[in-house]
Amino acid sequence: MNRQVKNFKRIGVFTSGGDAPGMNAAIRAVVRTAIHYGAEAYGIMRGYDGMIKGDIIQLTSKDVSGIIQRGGTILQSARSEEFKTIEGRQKAYQNLQKFQIDSLIAIGGDGTFTGATFLNKEYGIPIIGVPGTIDNDLFGSDTTIGYDTCMNTVVEAVDKIRDTAGSHNRMFFIEVMGRDAGFIALNTGIATGAENILIPETITDIDDLIISLKESKRIGKSSAIIIVAEGDDLGGAYEVAAKVKELDSSYSTRVSVLGHIQRGGSPSVADRVLASRLGFEAVEALYLGYDKVMTGMINGRITYTPLEKAIKHNNDIDKELLRMSRILST
Ligand code: ATP
Repeated sequence: MNRQVKNFKRIGVFTSGGDAPGMNAAIRAVVRTAIHYGAEAYGIMRGYDGMIKGDIIQLTSKDVSGIIQRGGTILQSARSEEFKTIEGRQKAYQNLQKFQIDSLIAIGGDGTFTGATFLNKEYGIPIIGVPGTIDNDLFGSDTTIGYDTCMNTVVEAVDKIRDTAGSHNRMFFIEVMGRDAGFIALNTGIATGAENILIPETITDIDDLIISLKESKRIGKSSAIIIVAEGDDLGGAYEVAAKVKELDSSYSTRVSVLGHIQRGGSPSVADRVLASRLGFEAVEALYLGYDKVMTGMINGRITYTPLEKAIKHNNDIDKELLRMSRILST
Protein backbone atom coordinates (compact mmCIF):
# COMPACT_ATOMS: atom_id res chain seq x y z
CA MET A 1 0.00 0.00 0.00
CA ASN A 2 1.34 3.43 -0.96
CA ARG A 3 0.90 5.77 1.91
CA GLN A 4 1.76 9.44 2.09
CA VAL A 5 2.04 11.49 5.23
CA LYS A 6 -1.06 13.69 5.31
CA ASN A 7 -1.91 16.93 7.00
CA PHE A 8 -5.39 17.26 8.40
CA LYS A 9 -6.79 20.44 9.91
CA ARG A 10 -10.23 19.49 11.19
CA ILE A 11 -10.85 16.02 12.46
CA GLY A 12 -14.45 14.98 13.16
CA VAL A 13 -15.12 12.33 15.78
CA PHE A 14 -18.38 10.54 16.58
CA THR A 15 -19.80 7.58 18.44
CA SER A 16 -22.49 5.47 16.84
CA GLY A 17 -24.51 2.29 17.35
CA GLY A 18 -24.76 0.82 20.84
CA ASP A 19 -22.85 2.83 23.44
CA ALA A 20 -20.01 1.12 25.26
CA PRO A 21 -18.02 2.01 28.39
CA GLY A 22 -14.69 3.47 27.31
CA MET A 23 -16.07 5.46 24.37
CA ASN A 24 -15.40 8.66 26.34
CA ALA A 25 -11.79 7.66 26.91
CA ALA A 26 -11.47 7.15 23.14
CA ILE A 27 -13.04 10.56 22.38
CA ARG A 28 -10.64 12.19 24.84
CA ALA A 29 -7.66 10.49 23.20
CA VAL A 30 -8.76 11.52 19.69
CA VAL A 31 -9.36 15.15 20.68
CA ARG A 32 -6.11 15.58 22.56
CA THR A 33 -3.99 13.82 19.93
CA ALA A 34 -5.58 15.91 17.16
CA ILE A 35 -4.83 19.10 19.08
CA HIS A 36 -1.27 17.87 19.72
CA TYR A 37 -0.78 17.67 15.96
CA GLY A 38 -2.11 21.20 15.42
CA ALA A 39 -5.56 20.18 14.17
CA GLU A 40 -8.96 21.16 15.50
CA ALA A 41 -11.29 18.47 16.77
CA TYR A 42 -15.03 18.49 16.10
CA GLY A 43 -17.52 16.30 17.90
CA ILE A 44 -20.47 15.11 15.84
CA MET A 45 -23.47 14.51 18.12
CA ARG A 46 -25.51 11.27 18.01
CA GLY A 47 -23.46 9.64 15.26
CA TYR A 48 -24.82 9.82 11.73
CA ASP A 49 -28.00 11.50 12.95
CA GLY A 50 -26.04 14.57 14.10
CA MET A 51 -24.00 14.48 10.91
CA ILE A 52 -27.19 14.74 8.86
CA LYS A 53 -28.63 17.48 11.07
CA GLY A 54 -25.39 19.45 11.32
CA ASP A 55 -25.23 19.01 15.09
CA ILE A 56 -21.48 19.48 15.30
CA ILE A 57 -19.38 21.24 17.96
CA GLN A 58 -15.73 22.07 18.37
CA LEU A 59 -14.08 20.18 21.21
CA THR A 60 -11.21 21.68 23.15
CA SER A 61 -8.83 19.83 25.41
CA LYS A 62 -10.83 21.12 28.38
CA ASP A 63 -14.09 19.80 26.94
CA VAL A 64 -12.79 16.27 27.34
CA SER A 65 -11.37 16.61 30.81
CA GLY A 66 -12.92 14.50 33.53
CA ILE A 67 -14.55 12.04 31.13
CA ILE A 68 -12.06 9.17 31.02
CA GLN A 69 -13.82 7.49 33.96
CA ARG A 70 -17.36 8.04 32.72
CA GLY A 71 -19.49 5.39 31.03
CA GLY A 72 -21.75 6.17 28.07
CA THR A 73 -20.62 8.75 25.53
CA ILE A 74 -20.59 12.54 25.86
CA LEU A 75 -21.27 12.72 22.11
CA GLN A 76 -24.31 10.47 22.56
CA SER A 77 -25.27 7.82 20.08
CA ALA A 78 -28.21 7.06 17.82
CA ARG A 79 -29.30 4.77 15.05
CA SER A 80 -30.02 6.64 11.81
CA GLU A 81 -32.12 5.03 9.09
CA GLU A 82 -31.73 8.16 6.96
CA PHE A 83 -27.99 7.63 6.74
CA LYS A 84 -28.65 4.34 4.96
CA THR A 85 -29.97 6.35 2.01
CA ILE A 86 -27.87 8.19 -0.61
CA GLU A 87 -29.78 11.40 0.15
CA GLY A 88 -29.07 11.08 3.86
CA ARG A 89 -25.36 10.63 3.28
CA GLN A 90 -25.35 13.58 0.89
CA LYS A 91 -26.81 15.81 3.62
CA ALA A 92 -24.23 14.45 6.06
CA TYR A 93 -21.38 15.20 3.69
CA GLN A 94 -22.67 18.72 3.02
CA ASN A 95 -22.54 19.40 6.75
CA LEU A 96 -19.01 18.06 6.98
CA GLN A 97 -18.05 20.48 4.21
CA LYS A 98 -19.83 23.33 5.95
CA PHE A 99 -17.68 22.73 9.03
CA GLN A 100 -14.61 22.11 6.85
CA ILE A 101 -14.12 18.71 8.42
CA ASP A 102 -11.48 16.94 6.33
CA SER A 103 -11.25 13.56 8.07
CA LEU A 104 -13.31 11.37 10.39
CA ILE A 105 -12.82 9.01 13.28
CA ALA A 106 -15.76 6.69 13.82
CA ILE A 107 -16.12 4.93 17.15
CA GLY A 108 -18.61 2.07 17.00
CA GLY A 109 -19.39 -1.40 15.73
CA ASP A 110 -19.95 -3.09 12.40
CA GLY A 111 -22.99 -1.00 11.42
CA THR A 112 -21.06 2.18 12.09
CA PHE A 113 -18.17 0.99 9.94
CA THR A 114 -20.52 -0.09 7.15
CA GLY A 115 -21.92 3.45 7.06
CA ALA A 116 -18.38 4.84 7.14
CA THR A 117 -17.29 2.78 4.13
CA PHE A 118 -20.25 4.14 2.11
CA LEU A 119 -19.39 7.73 2.98
CA ASN A 120 -15.77 7.11 2.12
CA LYS A 121 -16.60 5.48 -1.20
CA GLU A 122 -19.05 8.20 -2.21
CA TYR A 123 -17.15 11.30 -1.09
CA GLY A 124 -13.56 10.18 -0.53
CA ILE A 125 -13.34 11.54 3.00
CA PRO A 126 -10.62 9.68 4.94
CA ILE A 127 -12.05 7.60 7.78
CA ILE A 128 -10.46 5.59 10.55
CA GLY A 129 -12.56 3.26 12.72
CA VAL A 130 -12.14 2.60 16.43
CA PRO A 131 -13.83 -0.60 17.68
CA GLY A 132 -16.31 0.46 20.36
CA THR A 133 -18.89 -2.20 21.15
CA ILE A 134 -19.54 -4.44 24.13
CA ASP A 135 -20.16 -7.41 21.80
CA ASN A 136 -16.51 -7.96 20.77
CA ASP A 137 -17.80 -9.01 17.35
CA LEU A 138 -15.24 -7.31 15.11
CA PHE A 139 -12.31 -8.87 13.36
CA GLY A 140 -8.95 -7.13 13.79
CA SER A 141 -8.75 -6.62 17.54
CA ASP A 142 -8.47 -9.15 20.34
CA THR A 143 -11.06 -7.13 22.22
CA THR A 144 -13.28 -4.13 21.55
CA ILE A 145 -13.76 -1.09 23.79
CA GLY A 146 -16.44 -1.80 26.39
CA TYR A 147 -16.25 -5.57 26.30
CA ASP A 148 -14.10 -5.95 29.42
CA THR A 149 -16.24 -3.57 31.50
CA CYS A 150 -19.39 -5.30 30.34
CA MET A 151 -18.04 -8.68 31.38
CA ASN A 152 -17.07 -7.36 34.81
CA THR A 153 -20.60 -6.04 35.28
CA VAL A 154 -22.05 -9.41 34.30
CA VAL A 155 -19.73 -11.31 36.64
CA GLU A 156 -20.62 -9.06 39.57
CA ALA A 157 -24.33 -9.64 38.93
CA VAL A 158 -24.00 -13.40 38.44
CA ASP A 159 -21.96 -13.75 41.64
CA LYS A 160 -24.81 -12.11 43.51
CA ILE A 161 -27.38 -14.34 41.85
CA ARG A 162 -25.27 -17.38 42.75
CA ASP A 163 -25.56 -16.46 46.45
CA THR A 164 -29.33 -16.55 46.32
CA ALA A 165 -29.44 -19.54 43.96
CA GLY A 166 -27.35 -21.58 46.41
CA SER A 167 -29.51 -20.60 49.37
CA HIS A 168 -32.69 -21.84 47.72
CA ASN A 169 -31.47 -24.78 45.62
CA ARG A 170 -32.50 -22.98 42.48
CA MET A 171 -31.55 -23.09 38.88
CA PHE A 172 -31.04 -19.69 37.30
CA PHE A 173 -31.13 -18.93 33.61
CA ILE A 174 -29.29 -15.67 33.16
CA GLU A 175 -29.54 -13.88 29.85
CA VAL A 176 -26.65 -11.74 28.73
CA MET A 177 -26.18 -9.60 25.63
CA GLY A 178 -25.00 -11.15 22.38
CA ARG A 179 -27.44 -11.40 19.49
CA ASP A 180 -24.90 -12.90 17.11
CA ALA A 181 -21.79 -13.34 19.21
CA GLY A 182 -21.28 -15.44 22.32
CA PHE A 183 -18.11 -13.84 23.63
CA ILE A 184 -19.78 -12.21 26.64
CA ALA A 185 -21.65 -15.40 27.56
CA LEU A 186 -18.65 -17.69 27.11
CA ASN A 187 -16.16 -15.73 29.14
CA THR A 188 -18.52 -14.63 31.91
CA GLY A 189 -19.71 -18.23 32.11
CA ILE A 190 -16.16 -19.43 32.65
CA ALA A 191 -15.49 -16.64 35.16
CA THR A 192 -18.57 -17.45 37.25
CA GLY A 193 -18.26 -21.22 37.07
CA ALA A 194 -21.57 -21.50 35.25
CA GLU A 195 -22.88 -25.04 34.90
CA ASN A 196 -23.86 -24.40 31.27
CA ILE A 197 -23.18 -21.74 28.67
CA LEU A 198 -25.42 -21.36 25.63
CA ILE A 199 -24.12 -19.31 22.71
CA PRO A 200 -25.28 -18.53 19.16
CA GLU A 201 -22.19 -20.08 17.57
CA THR A 202 -23.15 -23.61 18.61
CA ILE A 203 -26.35 -25.59 18.26
CA THR A 204 -27.89 -26.07 21.68
CA ASP A 205 -29.10 -29.59 22.29
CA ILE A 206 -31.86 -29.50 24.91
CA ASP A 207 -31.45 -33.20 25.79
CA ASP A 208 -27.77 -32.69 26.32
CA LEU A 209 -28.54 -29.71 28.56
CA ILE A 210 -30.94 -31.79 30.67
CA ILE A 211 -28.36 -34.59 31.01
CA SER A 212 -25.77 -32.14 32.20
CA LEU A 213 -28.17 -30.54 34.70
CA LYS A 214 -29.07 -33.99 36.07
CA GLU A 215 -25.39 -34.73 36.46
CA SER A 216 -24.92 -31.51 38.42
CA LYS A 217 -27.76 -32.53 40.71
CA ARG A 218 -26.39 -36.06 41.10
CA ILE A 219 -23.04 -34.84 42.32
CA GLY A 220 -24.81 -32.75 44.95
CA LYS A 221 -24.72 -29.23 43.54
CA SER A 222 -27.13 -26.98 45.37
CA SER A 223 -27.62 -24.54 42.53
CA ALA A 224 -27.10 -24.19 38.83
CA ILE A 225 -26.33 -21.18 36.73
CA ILE A 226 -26.97 -21.32 33.01
CA ILE A 227 -25.69 -18.35 31.05
CA VAL A 228 -27.73 -17.79 27.91
CA ALA A 229 -26.61 -15.42 25.17
CA GLU A 230 -29.71 -13.56 23.96
CA GLY A 231 -29.18 -14.89 20.43
CA ASP A 232 -28.94 -18.58 21.30
CA ASP A 233 -30.72 -20.80 18.79
CA LEU A 234 -33.02 -22.19 21.53
CA GLY A 235 -34.14 -18.65 22.36
CA GLY A 236 -33.48 -16.25 25.23
CA ALA A 237 -33.37 -17.24 28.90
CA TYR A 238 -37.18 -17.32 29.28
CA GLU A 239 -37.59 -19.68 26.33
CA VAL A 240 -34.78 -21.98 27.43
CA ALA A 241 -36.08 -22.12 31.02
CA ALA A 242 -39.57 -22.99 29.76
CA LYS A 243 -38.19 -25.80 27.58
CA VAL A 244 -36.20 -27.28 30.48
CA LYS A 245 -39.22 -27.09 32.76
CA GLU A 246 -41.34 -28.79 30.11
CA LEU A 247 -38.97 -31.75 29.98
CA ASP A 248 -38.25 -31.94 33.70
CA SER A 249 -40.63 -30.18 36.07
CA SER A 250 -38.65 -31.13 39.18
CA TYR A 251 -36.48 -28.05 38.90
CA SER A 252 -37.16 -24.81 40.70
CA THR A 253 -36.16 -22.39 37.99
CA ARG A 254 -35.75 -18.62 37.87
CA VAL A 255 -34.87 -16.31 35.03
CA SER A 256 -32.85 -13.13 35.17
CA VAL A 257 -32.31 -10.92 32.13
CA LEU A 258 -29.43 -8.60 32.92
CA GLY A 259 -30.35 -6.12 30.17
CA HIS A 260 -28.95 -2.64 29.90
CA ILE A 261 -26.89 -2.61 33.07
CA GLN A 262 -24.38 -4.45 30.86
CA ARG A 263 -23.80 -1.29 28.84
CA GLY A 264 -23.31 1.13 31.70
CA GLY A 265 -20.76 1.90 34.37
CA SER A 266 -17.31 3.33 34.72
CA PRO A 267 -14.92 1.68 32.25
CA SER A 268 -12.44 -0.87 33.58
CA VAL A 269 -8.70 -0.23 33.54
CA ALA A 270 -8.35 -2.49 30.49
CA ASP A 271 -11.01 -0.54 28.57
CA ARG A 272 -9.58 2.85 29.51
CA VAL A 273 -6.13 1.83 28.34
CA LEU A 274 -7.42 0.18 25.17
CA ALA A 275 -9.60 3.19 24.32
CA SER A 276 -6.76 5.64 24.97
CA ARG A 277 -4.37 3.67 22.81
CA LEU A 278 -6.78 3.08 19.95
CA GLY A 279 -8.02 6.70 19.95
CA PHE A 280 -4.44 7.96 19.88
CA GLU A 281 -3.45 5.51 17.15
CA ALA A 282 -6.49 6.43 15.04
CA VAL A 283 -5.26 10.02 14.75
CA GLU A 284 -1.70 8.85 14.13
CA ALA A 285 -3.05 6.54 11.42
CA LEU A 286 -4.70 9.48 9.64
CA TYR A 287 -1.45 11.43 9.56
CA LEU A 288 0.44 8.36 8.39
CA GLY A 289 -1.88 8.22 5.38
CA TYR A 290 -4.02 5.24 6.38
CA ASP A 291 -7.61 5.27 5.23
CA LYS A 292 -10.65 2.97 5.70
CA VAL A 293 -8.93 0.96 8.41
CA MET A 294 -9.85 0.08 11.95
CA THR A 295 -7.24 0.43 14.66
CA GLY A 296 -7.05 -2.65 16.82
CA MET A 297 -4.87 -4.41 19.32
CA ILE A 298 -3.67 -7.96 18.73
CA ASN A 299 -1.31 -9.56 21.23
CA GLY A 300 -0.54 -6.14 22.70
CA ARG A 301 0.40 -4.62 19.36
CA ILE A 302 -1.45 -1.97 17.38
CA THR A 303 -2.87 -3.21 14.08
CA TYR A 304 -4.75 -1.66 11.16
CA THR A 305 -7.43 -3.79 9.54
CA PRO A 306 -9.38 -2.67 6.46
CA LEU A 307 -12.86 -1.67 7.63
CA GLU A 308 -14.52 -4.06 5.23
CA LYS A 309 -12.56 -6.98 6.63
CA ALA A 310 -13.27 -5.94 10.24
CA ILE A 311 -17.00 -6.00 9.45
CA LYS A 312 -17.18 -9.21 7.44
CA HIS A 313 -15.05 -11.58 9.48
CA ASN A 314 -15.78 -12.23 13.12
CA ASN A 315 -13.11 -13.35 15.52
CA ASP A 316 -13.62 -17.08 15.94
CA ILE A 317 -14.98 -18.19 19.25
CA ASP A 318 -12.89 -20.95 20.81
CA LYS A 319 -15.44 -23.75 21.18
CA GLU A 320 -12.91 -25.84 23.08
CA LEU A 321 -13.51 -23.43 25.96
CA LEU A 322 -17.09 -24.67 26.22
CA ARG A 323 -15.81 -28.20 26.75
CA MET A 324 -13.29 -26.94 29.31
CA SER A 325 -15.93 -24.96 31.17
CA ARG A 326 -18.14 -28.04 31.42
CA ILE A 327 -15.30 -30.11 32.88
CA LEU A 328 -14.41 -27.39 35.36
CA SER A 329 -17.96 -26.94 36.55
CA THR A 330 -18.67 -30.59 37.38
P1 ATP B 1 -23.31 -2.26 17.96
O1 ATP B 1 -22.52 -3.42 17.42
O2 ATP B 1 -22.89 -1.88 19.31
O3 ATP B 1 -24.80 -2.41 17.78
P2 ATP B 1 -23.12 -0.81 15.48
O4 ATP B 1 -22.16 0.22 15.01
O5 ATP B 1 -23.07 -2.13 14.76
O6 ATP B 1 -22.91 -0.98 17.02
P3 ATP B 1 -25.69 -0.23 14.24
O7 ATP B 1 -26.94 0.26 14.86
O8 ATP B 1 -25.73 -1.51 13.50
O9 ATP B 1 -24.61 -0.23 15.41
O10 ATP B 1 -25.16 0.90 13.21
C1 ATP B 1 -25.03 2.26 13.60
C2 ATP B 1 -25.47 3.16 12.48
O11 ATP B 1 -24.63 2.96 11.33
C3 ATP B 1 -26.88 2.92 11.94
O12 ATP B 1 -27.89 3.53 12.72
C4 ATP B 1 -26.79 3.55 10.56
O13 ATP B 1 -26.96 4.96 10.62
C5 ATP B 1 -25.36 3.24 10.15
N1 ATP B 1 -25.41 2.06 9.26
C6 ATP B 1 -25.54 0.76 9.61
N2 ATP B 1 -25.63 -0.03 8.52
C7 ATP B 1 -25.55 0.79 7.45
C8 ATP B 1 -25.61 0.60 6.05
N3 ATP B 1 -25.76 -0.61 5.50
N4 ATP B 1 -25.50 1.70 5.24
C9 ATP B 1 -25.35 2.92 5.77
N5 ATP B 1 -25.31 3.17 7.09
C10 ATP B 1 -25.40 2.14 7.92
